[in-house]
Amino acid sequence: MLVALIAPAYNEEGNIRALYDAVDRAFFHEADLSCELIIVDDGSSDGTFAAMQSLPTPPAPHRLATVSFSRNFGKEAALYAGLQRAHGDIVVFIDSDLQQPPHIARQMVQVLIDNPDADCVAAYQEQRERGLRSKLSHQFYRLLGASSNLDVLADASDFRAFRRPVADALLSMSEYYRFTKGLFAWVGFKTLPFPYTPAERHAGTTKWSARGLLKYAANGLLSFSTAPMKVAMWIGGIASLAAFVYAIVVIVQRLAFGIDVPGYATIVCLVLLLGGIILLMQGIMGEYLARTYIEGKHRPIYLVRRESVKGGNEESR
Ligand code: UDP
Ligand code: MG
Repeated sequence: MLVALIAPAYNEEGNIRALYDAVDRAFFHEADLSCELIIVDDGSSDGTFAAMQSLPTPPAPHRLATVSFSRNFGKEAALYAGLQRAHGDIVVFIDSDLQQPPHIARQMVQVLIDNPDADCVAAYQEQRERGLRSKLSHQFYRLLGASSNLDVLADASDFRAFRRPVADALLSMSEYYRFTKGLFAWVGFKTLPFPYTPAERHAGTTKWSARGLLKYAANGLLSFSTAPMKVAMWIGGIASLAAFVYAIVVIVQRLAFGIDVPGYATIVCLVLLLGGIILLMQGIMGEYLARTYIEGKHRPIYLVRRESVKGGNEESR
Protein backbone atom coordinates (compact mmCIF):
# COMPACT_ATOMS: atom_id res chain seq x y z
CA MET A 1 0.00 0.00 0.00
CA LEU A 2 1.50 3.30 -1.13
CA VAL A 3 0.37 6.49 0.61
CA ALA A 4 1.10 9.93 -0.87
CA LEU A 5 1.07 13.00 1.37
CA ILE A 6 0.71 16.29 -0.50
CA ALA A 7 1.76 19.34 1.49
CA PRO A 8 1.48 22.82 -0.08
CA ALA A 9 3.84 25.33 1.48
CA TYR A 10 3.87 29.09 1.04
CA ASN A 11 6.38 30.90 3.24
CA GLU A 12 6.61 28.06 5.75
CA GLU A 13 10.39 27.98 6.36
CA GLY A 14 9.86 27.41 10.09
CA ASN A 15 7.56 24.44 9.52
CA ILE A 16 9.20 22.29 6.85
CA ARG A 17 11.60 20.41 9.11
CA ALA A 18 8.92 19.93 11.79
CA LEU A 19 6.54 18.64 9.13
CA TYR A 20 9.14 16.15 7.92
CA ASP A 21 9.82 14.94 11.46
CA ALA A 22 6.11 14.54 12.21
CA VAL A 23 5.59 12.58 8.97
CA ASP A 24 8.67 10.53 9.89
CA ARG A 25 7.12 9.63 13.24
CA ALA A 26 3.69 8.89 11.80
CA PHE A 27 4.57 7.11 8.54
CA PHE A 28 8.24 6.33 7.95
CA HIS A 29 8.42 3.54 10.55
CA GLU A 30 5.67 1.42 9.05
CA ALA A 31 6.56 -1.90 7.51
CA ASP A 32 3.43 -2.44 5.43
CA LEU A 33 2.91 1.15 4.26
CA SER A 34 5.21 2.88 1.90
CA CYS A 35 4.91 6.63 1.94
CA GLU A 36 5.79 9.46 -0.42
CA LEU A 37 5.86 12.95 1.00
CA ILE A 38 5.35 15.58 -1.72
CA ILE A 39 6.08 19.13 -0.58
CA VAL A 40 5.07 21.83 -3.04
CA ASP A 41 6.73 25.20 -2.52
CA ASP A 42 4.14 27.64 -3.85
CA GLY A 43 6.56 30.40 -4.85
CA SER A 44 7.66 31.20 -1.31
CA SER A 45 9.75 34.32 -0.80
CA ASP A 46 11.42 33.07 2.41
CA GLY A 47 13.70 30.08 3.02
CA THR A 48 11.06 27.43 2.42
CA PHE A 49 12.83 26.02 -0.63
CA ALA A 50 16.20 25.86 1.13
CA ALA A 51 14.54 24.11 4.08
CA MET A 52 13.05 21.58 1.66
CA GLN A 53 16.43 20.99 0.00
CA SER A 54 18.16 20.29 3.30
CA LEU A 55 15.69 17.59 4.38
CA PRO A 56 17.25 14.13 4.81
CA THR A 57 16.51 11.23 2.50
CA PRO A 58 13.75 9.13 4.04
CA PRO A 59 14.51 5.48 4.90
CA ALA A 60 13.62 3.05 2.06
CA PRO A 61 11.04 2.43 0.70
CA HIS A 62 9.75 5.91 1.57
CA ARG A 63 10.28 8.86 -0.74
CA LEU A 64 10.46 12.60 -0.55
CA ALA A 65 9.51 14.67 -3.60
CA THR A 66 9.91 18.43 -3.74
CA VAL A 67 8.48 20.84 -6.29
CA SER A 68 9.05 24.56 -6.41
CA PHE A 69 6.80 26.94 -8.39
CA SER A 70 8.06 29.91 -10.38
CA ARG A 71 5.76 32.19 -8.37
CA ASN A 72 2.82 32.02 -5.98
CA PHE A 73 0.02 30.21 -7.82
CA GLY A 74 -2.14 29.48 -4.78
CA LYS A 75 -2.80 26.46 -2.61
CA GLU A 76 -5.24 24.90 -5.07
CA ALA A 77 -2.60 24.91 -7.81
CA ALA A 78 -0.07 23.39 -5.39
CA LEU A 79 -2.48 20.57 -4.53
CA TYR A 80 -2.97 19.92 -8.24
CA ALA A 81 0.79 19.76 -8.86
CA GLY A 82 1.07 17.29 -5.97
CA LEU A 83 -1.72 15.14 -7.39
CA GLN A 84 0.04 14.96 -10.74
CA ARG A 85 3.15 13.60 -9.02
CA ALA A 86 1.48 11.26 -6.52
CA HIS A 87 1.72 7.53 -7.17
CA GLY A 88 -0.14 6.55 -4.00
CA ASP A 89 -3.07 4.14 -3.79
CA ILE A 90 -4.18 6.54 -1.08
CA VAL A 91 -3.55 10.28 -1.31
CA VAL A 92 -3.70 12.76 1.58
CA PHE A 93 -3.94 16.56 1.38
CA ILE A 94 -2.25 18.07 4.42
CA ASP A 95 -1.22 21.62 5.35
CA SER A 96 2.45 22.12 6.03
CA ASP A 97 1.95 24.30 9.13
CA LEU A 98 1.15 21.21 11.28
CA GLN A 99 -2.37 22.46 11.99
CA GLN A 100 -3.43 19.21 10.36
CA PRO A 101 -1.19 16.80 12.30
CA PRO A 102 0.37 13.89 10.36
CA HIS A 103 -0.57 11.40 13.08
CA ILE A 104 -4.23 12.31 12.43
CA ALA A 105 -3.56 11.76 8.71
CA ARG A 106 -2.27 8.30 9.64
CA GLN A 107 -5.56 7.60 11.46
CA MET A 108 -7.54 8.79 8.43
CA VAL A 109 -5.56 6.45 6.19
CA GLN A 110 -6.34 3.64 8.63
CA VAL A 111 -10.07 4.41 8.36
CA LEU A 112 -9.78 3.95 4.57
CA ILE A 113 -7.85 0.70 4.99
CA ASP A 114 -10.44 -0.62 7.46
CA ASN A 115 -13.42 0.45 5.33
CA PRO A 116 -12.92 -0.96 1.82
CA ASP A 117 -16.23 0.54 0.74
CA ALA A 118 -15.27 4.14 1.60
CA ASP A 119 -13.43 6.25 -1.00
CA CYS A 120 -12.62 9.37 0.96
CA VAL A 121 -12.19 10.48 4.56
CA ALA A 122 -12.80 14.17 5.19
CA ALA A 123 -11.58 15.71 8.43
CA TYR A 124 -13.94 18.27 9.85
CA GLN A 125 -13.57 20.59 12.76
CA GLU A 126 -15.85 19.71 15.63
CA GLN A 127 -17.61 22.91 16.67
CA ARG A 128 -18.72 23.43 20.18
CA GLU A 129 -19.43 27.11 19.81
CA ARG A 130 -19.09 29.06 16.59
CA GLY A 131 -17.35 32.35 16.12
CA LEU A 132 -18.52 34.80 13.45
CA ARG A 133 -16.07 33.53 10.82
CA SER A 134 -17.15 29.94 11.33
CA LYS A 135 -20.86 30.90 11.25
CA LEU A 136 -20.38 32.81 8.00
CA SER A 137 -18.41 29.97 6.46
CA HIS A 138 -21.06 27.43 7.51
CA GLN A 139 -23.82 29.53 5.90
CA PHE A 140 -21.70 30.07 2.80
CA TYR A 141 -21.27 26.33 2.24
CA ARG A 142 -24.99 25.79 2.76
CA LEU A 143 -25.71 28.46 0.14
CA LEU A 144 -23.14 26.93 -2.20
CA GLY A 145 -24.68 23.48 -1.73
CA ALA A 146 -28.19 24.78 -2.35
CA SER A 147 -27.31 26.87 -5.41
CA SER A 148 -25.12 24.25 -7.07
CA ASN A 149 -27.20 21.15 -6.24
CA LEU A 150 -24.08 19.55 -4.82
CA ASP A 151 -23.61 17.79 -1.54
CA VAL A 152 -21.09 20.17 0.02
CA LEU A 153 -19.91 19.06 3.47
CA ALA A 154 -20.35 22.34 5.35
CA ASP A 155 -17.63 22.01 7.99
CA ALA A 156 -15.20 19.74 6.18
CA SER A 157 -11.76 21.09 5.42
CA ASP A 158 -9.58 20.04 2.53
CA PHE A 159 -7.67 17.86 4.99
CA ARG A 160 -8.62 14.59 3.31
CA ALA A 161 -7.44 11.09 2.59
CA PHE A 162 -8.82 9.47 -0.54
CA ARG A 163 -8.29 6.55 -2.88
CA ARG A 164 -6.77 6.51 -6.35
CA PRO A 165 -10.10 6.78 -8.24
CA VAL A 166 -10.87 10.03 -6.40
CA ALA A 167 -7.37 11.34 -7.16
CA ASP A 168 -7.82 10.49 -10.84
CA ALA A 169 -11.23 12.19 -10.85
CA LEU A 170 -9.70 15.37 -9.35
CA LEU A 171 -6.89 15.21 -11.91
CA SER A 172 -9.36 14.93 -14.76
CA MET A 173 -10.69 18.35 -13.82
CA SER A 174 -8.01 20.58 -15.19
CA GLU A 175 -9.82 23.88 -14.79
CA TYR A 176 -7.83 27.01 -14.01
CA TYR A 177 -10.11 28.29 -11.25
CA ARG A 178 -9.81 25.45 -8.78
CA PHE A 179 -11.95 25.28 -5.67
CA THR A 180 -11.01 22.03 -3.99
CA LYS A 181 -14.00 21.73 -1.66
CA GLY A 182 -16.33 22.18 -4.61
CA LEU A 183 -14.32 19.72 -6.70
CA PHE A 184 -14.64 17.10 -3.95
CA ALA A 185 -18.40 17.66 -3.85
CA TRP A 186 -18.62 17.50 -7.63
CA VAL A 187 -16.78 14.19 -8.03
CA GLY A 188 -18.97 12.53 -5.38
CA PHE A 189 -17.69 9.17 -4.02
CA LYS A 190 -18.42 7.67 -0.61
CA THR A 191 -17.02 10.11 1.94
CA LEU A 192 -16.70 9.43 5.66
CA PRO A 193 -16.48 12.40 8.04
CA PHE A 194 -13.65 12.36 10.56
CA PRO A 195 -13.84 14.75 13.51
CA TYR A 196 -10.58 16.39 14.56
CA THR A 197 -9.33 19.43 16.43
CA PRO A 198 -6.87 21.53 14.43
CA ALA A 199 -3.61 22.17 16.23
CA GLU A 200 -2.04 25.59 16.65
CA ARG A 201 0.20 26.72 13.80
CA HIS A 202 3.75 25.45 14.44
CA ALA A 203 5.44 28.63 13.13
CA GLY A 204 4.64 31.59 10.88
CA THR A 205 1.26 33.19 10.27
CA THR A 206 -1.89 32.39 8.31
CA LYS A 207 -2.03 33.41 4.63
CA TRP A 208 -5.70 34.33 4.82
CA SER A 209 -6.86 37.91 5.15
CA ALA A 210 -10.55 38.87 5.35
CA ARG A 211 -10.28 40.07 1.75
CA GLY A 212 -8.63 36.82 0.69
CA LEU A 213 -11.42 34.80 2.27
CA LEU A 214 -14.06 36.91 0.51
CA LYS A 215 -12.35 36.36 -2.83
CA TYR A 216 -12.10 32.66 -2.09
CA ALA A 217 -15.84 32.51 -1.33
CA ALA A 218 -16.73 34.44 -4.50
CA ASN A 219 -14.51 32.09 -6.50
CA GLY A 220 -16.27 29.07 -4.99
CA LEU A 221 -19.72 30.40 -5.80
CA LEU A 222 -18.81 31.48 -9.35
CA SER A 223 -17.02 28.19 -10.05
CA PHE A 224 -19.78 25.88 -8.94
CA SER A 225 -23.03 27.74 -9.33
CA THR A 226 -24.65 29.63 -12.18
CA ALA A 227 -27.53 30.70 -9.93
CA PRO A 228 -26.37 34.36 -9.67
CA MET A 229 -26.90 34.74 -13.42
CA LYS A 230 -30.46 33.57 -13.07
CA VAL A 231 -31.25 36.23 -10.47
CA ALA A 232 -31.46 38.76 -13.34
CA MET A 233 -34.20 36.70 -14.95
CA TRP A 234 -36.27 36.68 -11.78
CA ILE A 235 -35.86 40.37 -11.02
CA GLY A 236 -36.57 41.21 -14.66
CA GLY A 237 -39.66 39.02 -14.66
CA ILE A 238 -41.05 40.49 -11.45
CA ALA A 239 -40.30 44.09 -12.54
CA SER A 240 -42.00 43.54 -15.92
CA LEU A 241 -45.07 42.07 -14.25
CA ALA A 242 -45.27 44.96 -11.78
CA ALA A 243 -44.85 47.47 -14.63
CA PHE A 244 -47.62 45.81 -16.61
CA VAL A 245 -50.05 45.87 -13.67
CA TYR A 246 -49.14 49.47 -12.91
CA ALA A 247 -49.67 50.49 -16.55
CA ILE A 248 -53.19 49.07 -16.46
CA VAL A 249 -53.93 50.98 -13.27
CA VAL A 250 -52.69 54.23 -14.83
CA ILE A 251 -54.70 53.73 -18.03
CA VAL A 252 -57.87 52.98 -16.10
CA GLN A 253 -57.35 56.03 -13.85
CA ARG A 254 -56.80 58.28 -16.89
CA LEU A 255 -59.59 56.97 -19.12
CA ALA A 256 -62.29 56.09 -16.60
CA PHE A 257 -61.77 58.79 -13.98
CA GLY A 258 -59.82 61.44 -15.89
CA ILE A 259 -57.18 61.67 -13.16
CA ASP A 260 -53.83 63.13 -14.17
CA VAL A 261 -51.14 60.88 -12.71
CA PRO A 262 -48.22 62.87 -11.28
CA GLY A 263 -45.15 60.72 -11.12
CA TYR A 264 -41.84 62.56 -11.43
CA ALA A 265 -40.40 61.19 -8.16
CA THR A 266 -41.63 57.68 -8.87
CA ILE A 267 -40.03 57.72 -12.32
CA VAL A 268 -36.68 58.90 -11.02
CA CYS A 269 -36.65 56.25 -8.29
CA LEU A 270 -37.66 53.47 -10.67
CA VAL A 271 -35.13 54.45 -13.32
CA LEU A 272 -32.35 54.54 -10.72
CA LEU A 273 -33.42 51.25 -9.15
CA LEU A 274 -33.76 49.35 -12.42
CA GLY A 275 -30.62 50.94 -13.85
CA GLY A 276 -28.71 49.86 -10.74
CA ILE A 277 -30.03 46.32 -10.95
CA ILE A 278 -29.17 46.10 -14.66
CA LEU A 279 -25.60 47.27 -14.05
CA LEU A 280 -25.20 44.87 -11.12
CA MET A 281 -26.41 41.97 -13.23
CA GLN A 282 -24.12 42.99 -16.08
CA GLY A 283 -21.25 42.91 -13.60
CA ILE A 284 -22.19 39.40 -12.49
CA MET A 285 -22.49 38.23 -16.11
CA GLY A 286 -19.12 39.89 -16.76
CA GLU A 287 -17.54 37.82 -13.99
CA TYR A 288 -18.69 34.62 -15.63
CA LEU A 289 -17.62 35.84 -19.05
CA ALA A 290 -14.17 36.80 -17.74
CA ARG A 291 -13.76 33.32 -16.27
CA THR A 292 -14.79 31.74 -19.56
CA TYR A 293 -12.18 33.95 -21.24
CA ILE A 294 -9.39 32.92 -18.85
CA GLU A 295 -10.36 29.23 -18.97
CA GLY A 296 -10.44 29.49 -22.77
CA LYS A 297 -6.76 30.39 -22.86
CA HIS A 298 -5.89 27.01 -21.35
CA ARG A 299 -2.90 28.42 -19.58
CA PRO A 300 -1.02 26.05 -17.27
CA ILE A 301 -2.27 25.97 -13.69
CA TYR A 302 1.29 26.41 -12.39
CA LEU A 303 4.89 26.57 -13.59
CA VAL A 304 7.73 24.57 -12.03
CA ARG A 305 11.12 26.11 -11.26
CA ARG A 306 12.88 23.15 -9.57
CA GLU A 307 11.90 19.62 -8.79
CA SER A 308 13.59 16.65 -7.12
CA VAL A 309 12.93 13.19 -5.69
CA LYS A 310 14.87 11.57 -2.85
CA GLY A 311 14.73 8.01 -1.60
CA GLY A 312 12.52 5.18 -2.84
CA ASN A 313 13.82 3.66 -6.04
CA GLU A 314 14.27 6.86 -7.97
CA GLU A 315 17.42 8.90 -8.32
CA SER A 316 17.55 12.55 -7.52
CA ARG A 317 16.79 14.64 -10.57
N1 UDP B 1 -0.68 27.91 1.10
C1 UDP B 1 -0.15 27.78 -0.19
N2 UDP B 1 -0.28 28.83 -1.07
C2 UDP B 1 -0.90 29.99 -0.73
C3 UDP B 1 -1.45 30.09 0.58
C4 UDP B 1 -1.32 29.03 1.46
O1 UDP B 1 0.41 26.74 -0.54
O2 UDP B 1 -0.97 30.89 -1.58
C5 UDP B 1 -0.53 26.78 2.06
C6 UDP B 1 0.12 27.16 3.38
O3 UDP B 1 1.52 27.10 3.30
C7 UDP B 1 -0.45 26.11 4.31
C8 UDP B 1 -1.84 25.85 3.73
O4 UDP B 1 -1.80 26.32 2.40
O5 UDP B 1 0.30 24.91 4.28
C9 UDP B 1 -2.93 26.52 4.52
O6 UDP B 1 -2.63 27.89 4.66
P1 UDP B 1 -2.82 28.67 6.04
O7 UDP B 1 -2.25 27.86 7.15
O8 UDP B 1 -2.30 30.04 5.83
O9 UDP B 1 -4.40 28.69 6.15
P2 UDP B 1 -5.29 28.49 7.48
O10 UDP B 1 -4.79 27.20 8.11
O11 UDP B 1 -5.05 29.67 8.33
O12 UDP B 1 -6.69 28.36 6.98
MG1 MG C 1 -2.93 26.79 8.67
